[in-house]
Amino acid sequence: MNRLRISFVAFLSILAVLPAGAVVPAAEPSWKAGLARANITPAEPMWMAGYASRNRPAEGKLHDLWIKVLALEDAKGSRAVVVTSDLCGFSKINYDAIAAEVKKRCGLDRSQLKLTCSHTHSGPVFRDIAYDCYPLTAEQIARIDSYSLGLEKTIVDKIGEALANLRPATVWAGEGKAEFAVNRRNNRETDVAAIRQRGESLKGPNDFAVPVLAVKSAEGSLKGIVFGYACHATTLSINQWSGDYPGFTQIALEERHPEAVAMFYQGCGADQNPLPRRTVELCQQYGRKLAETVETVLAGPLRPMAPRLETAIELIDLPYGQQPTADELKPLAEKDTYQGRWAKRLLESLEKGEPLPKCYAEFPVQVWRLGDDQLWISLGGEAVVDYALMFKKAYGPRTWVNGYTNDVMSYVPSKRVLDEGGYEAGGFAACGLPANTWGPDIEERITSAVQGMVEKLAAANE
Ligand SMILES: [Zn+2]
Repeated sequence: MNRLRISFVAFLSILAVLPAGAVVPAAEPSWKAGLARANITPAEPMWMAGYASRNRPAEGKLHDLWIKVLALEDAKGSRAVVVTSDLCGFSKINYDAIAAEVKKRCGLDRSQLKLTCSHTHSGPVFRDIAYDCYPLTAEQIARIDSYSLGLEKTIVDKIGEALANLRPATVWAGEGKAEFAVNRRNNRETDVAAIRQRGESLKGPNDFAVPVLAVKSAEGSLKGIVFGYACHATTLSINQWSGDYPGFTQIALEERHPEAVAMFYQGCGADQNPLPRRTVELCQQYGRKLAETVETVLAGPLRPMAPRLETAIELIDLPYGQQPTADELKPLAEKDTYQGRWAKRLLESLEKGEPLPKCYAEFPVQVWRLGDDQLWISLGGEAVVDYALMFKKAYGPRTWVNGYTNDVMSYVPSKRVLDEGGYEAGGFAACGLPANTWGPDIEERITSAVQGMVEKLAAANE
């Protein structure tokens, strides 16, 4: 059983003592916010999620891994929780288990739960995700299952704790900009340093936005900083646990604001990498850069958000495109690689007479509306940057967009990326899905689900 060292941050409620006979002013309707956190660094050696090329489990840590929770309640009592995590991504099994327990214990439905991750490639493998990636022994699988179940319970416990910690608060929004993300499809990694040295521009598209949601106590002290950035957390590939650059950013912000919890979520960074990379020094440098950006946003001016919250979610079917045949899988299944393990597993299904599923069921698309006009759109999977750019264009500058939320099953290409091809258009073998590509209407299905929810929430707000 993994040892989960647990700590938490709670708001202190201040009881105002008024002189006898004083008129008590009617309380302004306000937000309530509560926070909680838990250290989730695995105590035992486990395989790390992210790179299929890894050949052994983790050996110690660079710094600790965390899950952190912000619970919000608006003036009408509507609630929602954001979970951030130093993890590569939650699987559908994790999401379903956590969502069911959160419904049972806290009364929140899936629309009210945002389960995000930093997509660090220096976090642990979870149950039912990336099993094809590594030559896992039965003992390692048992360890992964035990850790995952413990983590799912910890997350639900901490959601309960954050809700129990709800206290009057103010909520603020702002945006900054950090430019260390590089479009990895359109720039060769080995060329990046030289291009920058020559003062030339790297090719895009990119989303350099750093959305910041700040939570302050009723007395004005900073309690929560929730921020995002669209860039793979792949600076490091060493065999030590770490949150990669977002881990260093969160540490830097919490050192500067010891009373606050700093929470990072991954944007639509599927096709973005922090380049150059692969040294701890560069990782710290990107972490500090992002922390400085967040600090600049916190220094203001920030937009106060009215205490209004609406949440929506849709779980949509995404049809697969081309799928492998048994004849195509047979030669691949002979190989001792992640593609080989994937092919062998699919072949076994086909040979048992079980056809491959034709679509990915229940892909999560989620929209929140905060205050008067702040949209926060979250997609499952590794969404490419085009999604963030198209939603901001469609819905305006008060739109935050992130991927890697609730269920990270594979890459989620836009129509452009799907047509161009390349790793982010597929990568299904590494993710374990039974197809070679997505169907041609993936972008249309996702954008129409978002559009429907944006309209529904706008109508609810009128
Ligand atoms: Zn990725």
